[in-house]
Amino acid sequence: MNGSNHFDLPPSMRALEYSEARKFSIVEKSLPTIREHDVLIKVKASGICGTDLHIHDGEFGAQFPLVPGHETVGVVAAFGSKVQDFNIGDRVVADNSELCGHCHYCRRGKELFCENFIAHGVMVDGGFAEYASYPANRVFKFKNLSDVDATLLEPAACAAHGLDKIAPQMGSSVLLFGAGPTGLILAQLLRQNGGCHTVIAAPAGLKMELARSLNAADEFVELPRDAQAAATKMEELRSKNPYGFDIVVEATGNAKILENAIKFVTKGGKLVVYGVYGEDDRVSLPPNKIFKEEINLIGSFSQTYKFPAAINYLDGKRIHVSGIVNKTFKLEEWQDCLDAMKNKSVIKAALVFD
Ligand SMILES: [Zn+2]
Ligand SMILES: [Zn+2]
Repeated sequence: MNGSNHFDLPPSMRALEYSEARKFSIVEKSLPTIREHDVLIKVKASGICGTDLHIHDGEFGAQFPLVPGHETVGVVAAFGSKVQDFNIGDRVVADNSELCGHCHYCRRGKELFCENFIAHGVMVDGGFAEYASYPANRVFKFKNLSDVDATLLEPAACAAHGLDKIAPQMGSSVLLFGAGPTGLILAQLLRQNGGCHTVIAAPAGLKMELARSLNAADEFVELPRDAQAAATKMEELRSKNPYGFDIVVEATGNAKILENAIKFVTKGGKLVVYGVYGEDDRVSLPPNKIFKEEINLIGSFSQTYKFPAAINYLDGKRIHVSGIVNKTFKLEEWQDCLDAMKNKSVIKAALVFD
């Protein structure tokens, strides 16, 4: 590093490191080295999502030893000699994916499926540390969002990719199952991009209250926890909407709900598979309906190149996210955070740093 492009950096940093699945501790380690095209971020907040629970268990391709954290927000603390357009102190968010640019899929413009994909916070160290480094082309500036709300930019980028995949037509009716963080963002995006009537169906509770306060839909259908009562409510929703919806999004990750969701798709409509499902999950769908009614099945999983769109929507206050992160933790409170995630007492959590 040359003297002009960095803060006075400390000799070491604190990080939450896993030596193997389920074995973690706070360690003192040296700062990430930065290559000539890298930016070093002093981390302010790191979002936590369901993926981190899988990483805790050693799933999702986690490679140990590992500092997790794939929703990283902070300020520029240093940068390599070939980096342009960044200043020390810039507020930034990092896209955690590095793409190779030369594999079968990258050569065809399908970088989402890059065969040499490197995910920070999964395969290499990420943002559960005081400092983290990323290639400058994966680092994006923002202005207005709080550090904690900015952790939603990664999920919002995924939702913006979902919107591209769905390509809603003007005047579409939309039904979205689930009121989790990405669902709430996708519902707002759909509402502003062709959706004329958007319905969110989810169990009554914290997330549904938040959905209302964010004004994420035109109509909210609260599903009772009791299975029989929920089935009755779904039947009601169907009879109220006999022609179904142009776009139906399954955003809960529950395969059973996906099987039900197709019943709500109008002829020629779109069924969007948008949850994180178990690898062994299977669904039974009626091929005759898919064929005769020309139902479009759409999968949407991650994103590439959608951070600028996400920043425009969130930083420009077009899409509202305040309150989605409803609990923050310090690095040394990681076990409490895991417990809160597992017993679902948080909507979304973030680690915060001084
Ligand atoms: Zn995530
Ligand atoms: Zn590639």
